[in-house]
Amino acid sequence: MRFDTVIIGGGLAGLTAGISLQEAGRKVAIVSAGQNAMHFFSGNFEDAGPVRDRVAALFAAAGVRTNATDGLQLMAMGKFKNVSLTLEDVTVFPDEHIAEKVLLVNFAGYHDFFGTFIAETLENLGISCRIRFVRLAEMESLRTSPSEMRSVNIARMMDEYWEKVVTDIRVLHKDEDLILLPQVFGLKDAAVLDKIRKALPARVAFVGTMPPSVPGIRTQMLLKHRFEVLGGTFLMGDEVTSAALHEGIISSITTRNLDTVRLFADHFIIATGGFFSKGLVSTPTQVYEPLIGLDMDYSEDRNAWYNEEFFESQPYMNFGVKTDAELHPFKDGEPIRNMYAIGSILGNTRKEDFGTAAGLAIRTAFAAADAIKGGNV
Ligand SMILES: Cc1cc2nc3c(=O)[nH]c(=O)nc-3n(C[C@H](O)[C@H](O)[C@H](O)COP(=O)(O)OP(=O)(O)OC[C@H]3O[C@@H](n4cnc5c(N)ncnc54)[C@H](O)[C@@H]3O)c2cc1C
Repeated sequence: MRFDTVIIGGGLAGLTAGISLQEAGRKVAIVSAGQNAMHFFSGNFEDAGPVRDRVAALFAAAGVRTNATDGLQLMAMGKFKNVSLTLEDVTVFPDEHIAEKVLLVNFAGYHDFFGTFIAETLENLGISCRIRFVRLAEMESLRTSPSEMRSVNIARMMDEYWEKVVTDIRVLHKDEDLILLPQVFGLKDAAVLDKIRKALPARVAFVGTMPPSVPGIRTQMLLKHRFEVLGGTFLMGDEVTSAALHEGIISSITTRNLDTVRLFADHFIIATGGFFSKGLVSTPTQVYEPLIGLDMDYSEDRNAWYNEEFFESQPYMNFGVKTDAELHPFKDGEPIRNMYAIGSILGNTRKEDFGTAAGLAIRTAFAAADAIKGGNV
């Protein structure tokens, strides 16, 4: 099988690059092994500021609604965080004084939404916060097992039963000017969020839960759908197992499911993620990139890998594959001229140019896609 570009990894970086190339009429395949960081997404695209209009437009065409407003996000653990581009699910507050009185609503038996932490933060700010629970008969089957009472299972139910929850909240509401709810609504369709906002008698804000992230999963599904609608080939649940590299050029790759069938392309993008997605691997003695054995930018002194102060920034977060100015990774000291490394496989090695986190994923995806569109091999 032949493509213009094969992308290895279908997380935020791979999908953004894939959509950008498909929009330009290129023939692209994405091979994606499994879960990615979007499944744990807070809703905040950190460090995406410099490209926020461009990415907001790409997302909008995919049906992913964003909020490009500078302000504060109330996080799952009750802390505030500065944001400049979020999913539309996130309410962005101008300052910490988010309300006079808050009603925080949770589901009985749901432990992945930390209402008490959030209430404590708010009380410390002089904002009164009343916590109340909704108990739907339809959720009894989930409540029998704590492992079933997870955000995505609740969200699947809420696609059907959100109106019942709204009815219960209307009964619980007194004089609060803000209602806080867990982000377990609108898994299939974010329009449900608007309907809930309209149906309740006060402002509504949705606050993150423990993973999996409902807004993150919805975003991943919409981006994948957009890529496929544009004509892209998405090989879900498959894994690239080898790459044919000769004199600085990759000609083809193999995957676990396609067995002997090779995928040929003019360009390759490696977007296999960081340690979390096994795009990078560490053993007690080394840190390496497992697919091609790309050259790494990291300290060989193991004592320099981590900071014993657990909550301090950790040096291993800076480790990633080594790239040249155009994001070509190196193998044995030589750049691979038709491959681009993007997203968290870079660690923080290109922080100065492309930022970190989701911003790094998006900005390097655009850079690689632009280079391929411009013919810069
Ligand atoms: C748990 C977690 C939560 C995060 N939350 C946020 C957040 O809220 N906001 C933010 O700004 N940043 C966040 N980040 C930073 C995050 O890294 C970026 O936001 C971004 O989503 C990373 O995207 P990526 O595409 O580079 O990698 P990933 O999302 O990790 O995707 C890599 C994909 O490649 C696949 N893969 C790996 N090897 C192969 C192979 N051989 N063949 C085929 N596929 C392969 C993996 O299965 C995975 O699907 C978070 C990171 C983590 C780990």
